[in-house]
Amino acid sequence: MQQGEFKELARKRILVTGGAGFIGSHLCRRLLDRGAEVLCVDNFFTGSRDHVQEMQDHPRFELLRHDITFPLYVEVDEIYNLACPASPIHYQFDPVQTTKTCVHGSINMLGLAKRVKARILQASTSEVYGDPETHPQTEDYWGRVNPIGPRSCYDEGKRCAETLFTDYHRQHGVPIRIARIFNTFGPRMHPNDGRVVSNFILQALQDKPITIYGDGSQTRSFCYVDDMVDGLTALMHAPDDAHLPVNLGNPEERTILNLAEIIIEFVNSRSTIDFRPLPQDDPRRRRPDISQAREKLGWEPRVSMEDGLHKTVQYFEGLLRSRREEGAE
Ligand code: NAD
Ligand code: UDP
Ligand code: UDP
Repeated sequence: MQQGEFKELARKRILVTGGAGFIGSHLCRRLLDRGAEVLCVDNFFTGSRDHVQEMQDHPRFELLRHDITFPLYVEVDEIYNLACPASPIHYQFDPVQTTKTCVHGSINMLGLAKRVKARILQASTSEVYGDPETHPQTEDYWGRVNPIGPRSCYDEGKRCAETLFTDYHRQHGVPIRIARIFNTFGPRMHPNDGRVVSNFILQALQDKPITIYGDGSQTRSFCYVDDMVDGLTALMHAPDDAHLPVNLGNPEERTILNLAEIIIEFVNSRSTIDFRPLPQDDPRRRRPDISQAREKLGWEPRVSMEDGLHKTVQYFEGLLRSRREEGAE
């Protein structure tokens, strides 16, 4: 961290929507550590008070229960718009609400940014590329997205949010940032949201069968959450002309079968592999081209898969332990 950056944040009041979620709670902690005042806004759909519990008594931290599909009138200097369920199980639970969060939520947060002249960052996603025909994905690729499939509420919602952000920039001069986030993992991932890293770790820790959808040859690239938070803050503080989308993720690509093998070995598990049907519209390959982030932000992931898994496994071990203790009470 630069000394100057610390001084700059020390004067800032920062709104994090979705701040009680997985990435949001790590971001709130980082911003507090850098001297900012943090207003965390969350409707607790997938987030939890537990994630921000350790910040509750901090004098510069404030938690507000609010749904961003409704207007919000507060005074802030910067906005990180992370509010949105991120895993297929959660965003497909109430697809209309998912689209509303992406579209109405973005309009409200952009209206707020416009009124208070705040810089605003949108947590977009690699899902805007859909099931891509080009590999790896660069920011100028327009994507291949099914507009009426089960993933559309999220993919198209996030695409529309990018459109809104860009038009508020062009039409109203709002200073925007768009981060296209690729698969991220780490402590405070939801144990029950069906994402691959959390599923595999929990299954391996309990010696249960590892559920691979399809033959496991599909690929993803996994970024540790601390690296992602670095990328988000670097993008927020990038020079004024950085309004175009930037990929943030780890370019190290692996197959889902390979991930299963690594995790089984890592936790020394007796789990076997259980092949299940591949869900509809499941992307075949995904790897970010992060040249833009390297050039514009001087950012790239630093945490190795092994170190990231170590911390994540520790977190889930703790979670299973407390579940057992609760069960025993
Ligand atoms: P998460 O589900 O843990 O966090 C999202 C948070 O937003 C939750 O706390 C939830 O309660 C809150 N929320 C949802 N709808 C809301 C609403 N209408 N009003 C207020 N709060 C609301 O997910 P995450 O993994 O931390 O993702 C954070 C952001 O990053 C999301 O926008 C997601 O789309 C994006 N993203 C995440 C990943 C990833 O791998 N985790 C990948 C790409 C993009
Ligand atoms: N908005 C908000 N907080 C503010 C300012 C605006 O939530 O501090 C909402 C407002 O309810 C509006 C939306 O943001 O629906 C878009 O605002 P904008 O000024 O762009 O549009 P308008 O108010 O003209 O519809
Ligand atoms: N996946 C899997 N087993 C699981 C959970 C997921 O094989 O228990 C697969 C899933 O089909 C996808 C990949 O792992 O191909 C990543 O899934 P996740 O939901 O974590 O992320 P996304 O598909 O949104 O990238």
